[in-house]
Amino acid sequence: LSPSSQSTKDYALRLLKRIVSINSVNPEMDPDSPGELELSNFLKDELSRIGLEARTQRVPLKSRKVRRQNTIGRLRLGGGRKTKSTKTLMLNGHMDTVPSEGMKIPAFKAVVRNGFLYGRGSSDMKGGIASFVAAAKLLAESDEKFSGELLLAFVTGEEYLSSGTESIVQSHKYQADGAIVGEPTDLKLALAHKGFTWFEVEVLGRAAHGSVPEEGVDAIERAAKLVQKIETSLKPTLSKKNHPLVGYPRIHTSWIEGGRAWNIIADRCVLKLERRTIPGESSNEVYDEIKNLIEEIRSEDKASRSAQFKLSRLFERDPLETKANEPIAHAVISSYQKVFRIKATPIGMPYWTDAAYLSKPGGVPSIVIGPGSVSEAHTAGEKVDVAQVYTAVDLYAESVREFFRAAEARS
Ligand SMILES: [Zn+2]
Repeated sequence: LSPSSQSTKDYALRLLKRIVSINSVNPEMDPDSPGELELSNFLKDELSRIGLEARTQRVPLKSRKVRRQNTIGRLRLGGGRKTKSTKTLMLNGHMDTVPSEGMKIPAFKAVVRNGFLYGRGSSDMKGGIASFVAAAKLLAESDEKFSGELLLAFVTGEEYLSSGTESIVQSHKYQADGAIVGEPTDLKLALAHKGFTWFEVEVLGRAAHGSVPEEGVDAIERAAKLVQKIETSLKPTLSKKNHPLVGYPRIHTSWIEGGRAWNIIADRCVLKLERRTIPGESSNEVYDEIKNLIEEIRSEDKASRSAQFKLSRLFERDPLETKANEPIAHAVISSYQKVFRIKATPIGMPYWTDAAYLSKPGGVPSIVIGPGSVSEAHTAGEKVDVAQVYTAVDLYAESVREFFRAAEARS
């Protein structure tokens, strides 16, 4: 393996500066932001310029102000036509960032100092995008001996509900045999991460005058009992579970809302809960956990029995778990060994990524590895280590080669 030339490094840094300076704050999180459109168009032009077939894909979203679109680049490697045995590898990165409000550095100036590039999205995850593009440019310029189809998928909305990757998967136009998601992992190979489920519990009691609470059914008190049970009963149970890469599951109360007036016993209280799931936990299982706590509360006193608890699942995303012997994991492990001269030690991550959606329901075995650090993501002084971006270029290019070479060797 020959590490990237100075010109490749220069290209990667120039590109990273350029894309960090384009504001692509998620418009679902900040309605005044311009969204990903300018970045998406820029990336489409850049991919065309370096020799990829590039296009955009509209992402249907009820965002009144701005058009949302993914950018997809396609590169046929090794010449020849695509046949049934041609494998496809996807490099996936989200273009959106979280809002820049409250940042303590210029959010879109892309200042480089002491080996770090500063700005919103530098770690999460424009460093990954720049490395993907620079790796694709290397591959497009070289005369590779294997054949394969490389897809670059730059997507909208990951920081909210993952509209972009959802569109990629739902359209069935971009099927792949493996995917690398370039979220910041400090260039560690992540094979697993947690999923999540959002629950709402609406507690309906009966209003009464504050002077005679016994004539009502206090919805706030019932909701508080549930919060208490989560704390004293559920959390200790969850902390005994363990997944070798992601640890134990978590739960917390995200919102609470209820009450009418000082002197009225509340007839309604709503709790919103977030449950972070580990690989192997089923959606029904985590639903039943909450349902059982509610049953317990209802069995404890008369007022709770006469209250109504409406439990609903509002949104959920599966955890990620990819086996180390999947071809994509195998390719990255081999190239990791070449680039770092040590064996990759797979990690798990607490946060969710599009890799899980690509894996299921997308059916594309996916792993996560990228430059930058999750402890920089979303921070007021977000930065990325430029040297990591350069290393990522080598790692990605070599992973692509390993993936297609191994596929050819198998066929
Ligand atoms: Zn991210």
